Amino acid sequence: MDRQQEFVLRTIEERDVRFVRMWFTDVVGTLKSVALAPAEVETVFEEGLGFDGSSIEGLSRVHESDMLLQPDPSTFQLLPWRGETEPTSRMFCDILTPDGEPSSADSRGVLKRILSKAGDMGFTCYTAPEVEFYLLKSAELNAEGSPVPVDREGYFDHVYGGVVQDFRRRAVTMLEAVGISVEFSHHEGGPGQNEIDLRHADALQTADNIMTFRSVIKEVAFSQGIYATFMPKPFTEFPGSGMHTHFSLFEGDTNAFFEAGAEYQLSRTARHFIAGILKHAPEFTSVTNQFVNSYKRLWGGGEAPSYLSWGHNNRSALVRVPLYKPNKMQSARIEYRGIDSAANPYLAYAVLLAAGLKGIENEYELPEAEAEDVASMSATERRSLGHDPLPSSLHDAIRLTEDSEFMAETLGEQVFNQFLRNKQDDWTAYRMEVTPYELKYNLGLL
Ligand code: GLU
Ligand code: MG
Ligand code: MG
Repeated sequence: MDRQQEFVLRTIEERDVRFVRMWFTDVVGTLKSVALAPAEVETVFEEGLGFDGSSIEGLSRVHESDMLLQPDPSTFQLLPWRGETEPTSRMFCDILTPDGEPSSADSRGVLKRILSKAGDMGFTCYTAPEVEFYLLKSAELNAEGSPVPVDREGYFDHVYGGVVQDFRRRAVTMLEAVGISVEFSHHEGGPGQNEIDLRHADALQTADNIMTFRSVIKEVAFSQGIYATFMPKPFTEFPGSGMHTHFSLFEGDTNAFFEAGAEYQLSRTARHFIAGILKHAPEFTSVTNQFVNSYKRLWGGGEAPSYLSWGHNNRSALVRVPLYKPNKMQSARIEYRGIDSAANPYLAYAVLLAAGLKGIENEYELPEAEAEDVASMSATERRSLGHDPLPSSLHDAIRLTEDSEFMAETLGEQVFNQFLRNKQDDWTAYRMEVTPYELKYNLGLL
């Protein structure tokens, strides 16, 4: 029993915790939870908790379905939204095989493997997500087949007496109560659309935080009788929900992305990192943008990026270099704008970091920064400047992933295969569906 485990046991006793939830995620990033009685926790620390992995999407092949959950005591947290009288808590878990080895089907394990590679190269990775989402009146559709947002406001609007103001206050308070620091929160461009930006943390902690964040947001919305969705593009006519993420690599206390006096104060390490991301983005987009609907966002305007490019003050760029405090070494970072709010954060951060690290290892050259709006260039102009498109559909994205050695190596054979199988099923189901758009188009109703 190590000290962290002892601390957890002591807290459970002192706070009279009634349930200890074991949290883990499936291959598409859906949160899974098993509640333990407090008396079981000590044994589970020692032996793990056995469960049938074959019933969890993408976790194991049926003939090897026995798996173990090993709770990570450093993630122990009391969950305030279940009420003070019967405290509930949670720990994130690693997934192990019956002989105690990390399972190669675990997405959290994939991110840990990439972070340990970064560690071998001397880097700690920090990430900070800006999560956008819509608040709807309910999960139901109106007579026109559309979801109904809770308000009609837009970017940075202050909503008087609005449900959204109240929602954000409660959500931020609850996030802080579960140890997630919020930097900013504001109304986003679409009606009912909001954004909450989390403070940077180690990439594994950020991914855990995003899983917690989604639960908190859903719970708070539920308690107010409204519905929160992280769907990438719920409305044709309004912007989608991105999860722009800021990345930086530190060597000890030194930000490896910073070089005073260089263009945008970016070090060579940062330039190679961006080059790695741009090179591999088409191959990893199936992971950062994993649903059929994700491509409606990428190709639906609303400031979502559609082409490979990087730049400073350019909202069409896939990778942006924010310069809020250009001379502050600690704040040098890059922002990836492609990823959406429905991604599996473990796999998405794993592929983004792996791509950046590959760029550093192989010293990929970074093309010129783009100052123009890439979306309004002609196709020929874009081609001559090397601004290739991101995949145009989930189908396209899957094909690029299937052919990618980089992706097979980064995800590992099992996650690679199970993820692709899941996505192919998504695409097949979608391809068969006759949509309202086609009906309206063909029946002359548009
Ligand atoms: N909602 C936009 C997107 O889908 C981003 C808007 C912004 O720049 O924050 O990426
Ligand atoms: Mg935003
Ligand atoms: Mg942003």
